[in-house]
Amino acid sequence: MQIDPASPESSATAPAATGSPATGSPATGSRAPRGAQRRRLGLRARVTTMFALGALVLSGALAGIGYFAVRASIVNQQLASMRHQSLANAVLLRGELRAPTAYIPGLMTTLDSGPNTDSLIYSTNRWYPSSATTSPSELPKALEATVLGGSPAQQLINAGGTAELVVGVPIPSENGDRSRTADYFEIFNLSDLTRTLHALLAALSLAALITTVAGAVLGRWAAGRALRPLNATTKAALSIAGGHLDTRLESAQFADLAVLTSAFNQMVDQLQERIEREARFTSDVNHELRSPLTTLANSLSVLEARRDELPPKALQALDLLGAEVRRFRRLVDELLEISRFDAVGNDLSRDEVTVGALVEHTVQATGANVPIRFAPGVESRHILVDKRRFERIFANLFENAQRYAGSATLLAVENHGSSVRFLVEDEGPGIAPEERDRIFERFSRGTTGRRRGLGDGTGLGLAIVAQHVHQHGGRVWVEGRPGGGSRFVVELPAMNEVAA
Ligand code: ADP
Repeated sequence: MQIDPASPESSATAPAATGSPATGSPATGSRAPRGAQRRRLGLRARVTTMFALGALVLSGALAGIGYFAVRASIVNQQLASMRHQSLANAVLLRGELRAPTAYIPGLMTTLDSGPNTDSLIYSTNRWYPSSATTSPSELPKALEATVLGGSPAQQLINAGGTAELVVGVPIPSENGDRSRTADYFEIFNLSDLTRTLHALLAALSLAALITTVAGAVLGRWAAGRALRPLNATTKAALSIAGGHLDTRLESAQFADLAVLTSAFNQMVDQLQERIEREARFTSDVNHELRSPLTTLANSLSVLEARRDELPPKALQALDLLGAEVRRFRRLVDELLEISRFDAVGNDLSRDEVTVGALVEHTVQATGANVPIRFAPGVESRHILVDKRRFERIFANLFENAQRYAGSATLLAVENHGSSVRFLVEDEGPGIAPEERDRIFERFSRGTTGRRRGLGDGTGLGLAIVAQHVHQHGGRVWVEGRPGGGSRFVVELPAMNEVAA
């Protein structure tokens, strides 16, 4: 199997339970505690957050600096031009007021003022407003006093929520004639300027927001690209842990990944070689043991055929020897089965069968006298199994039930979503909760096995069951049977749903 660290497909998630290491309980697994999972963000999420935060800070700072710089420039420019306009009008007025017949309300119409501007002239103790709505009460008192005192002044005010600039310019008469002096005030409405600044602020904020989102997207993309080799490596490691020792990473496209890939592949080569060597060794040892064992068994048969001729003490020794030879034979057979799995891996020869037919056939083949109970619809479901291994699974479970609990009392077959569950029940002593995982390990004998002192137990039967079940992509565990005894549950994936 080849996995390309640089290909997008390689970033897929880990394979399902298929061939996962043997475990007796569906609850067992290397999951992090829930709290820790919630607290720790994934690398991809962290990189994305960092990119988004970076983009937010940068774009926020740039938008802020840009806004204040542009605002200062626009405001200064606008205020200068307004002041300029007021001075120009004051100069114009001064010239017009020279004429003894000057008519001030008439003069007001000649002034150059914008649409949002009001003006007032104060002369000979009278106010002349440019429009009926303009009144001297709009002028700030301090500014009015300053201007009437002979100094020009300007002030920004807030008139009912609207920003205004008030400019006052005294107009002294050219010949000192008191009756010809005047004071000119102009009130500029700044709402256009305020609107422009608000629009600028909104545009810059939107730009900062878009930049932040773009930063997050870029971060996610960059993290995805950077993590691709890691995903491929994780997938390959999981595949190897699941028994696919031929899994390798494909030679990388990038120089820095090439080192990782070749180191990883080298490590797996060595691991595979070592596992295969060990499995071969076990297998060879077992094969070598077979012939002396056969000789022993044959000699034993000869002796057993002449039991009548043997004295009682020799008979006792013969029975002991017989039990040990049978146990040894069984041990060698089971070790051979396990070592074959270690050496060859997943060599299932699967057929598609209906659950009903498979179960009937298996019970018959194992010779177990166990009642079968099918849940509605389960019999017609199809599963893909290696029939020989399926038989082996149930032969071991029935044999254990017989040995430790008298016999199996029920084989129930149930639907469980996309899987089918096979429950082997007995009414024996049951298995203590703390032993329920361990008994599926190799050479592990539970309290019952040891207490009963049954000579032919090897501690390998359930390990073989777990191995076969996992090879089929299923799970196996044991639980307490309600009312006493044990319930071994084998769960295998089915090919179709329950027919409606
Ligand atoms: P063995 O039977 O050779 O000891 P197994 O792997 O088949 O090895 O079983 C492991 C242990 O699980 C047994 O030693 C026994 O303690 C326990 N066990 C298995 N089946 C049952 C059962 N049906 N009831 C009680 N204990 C059981």
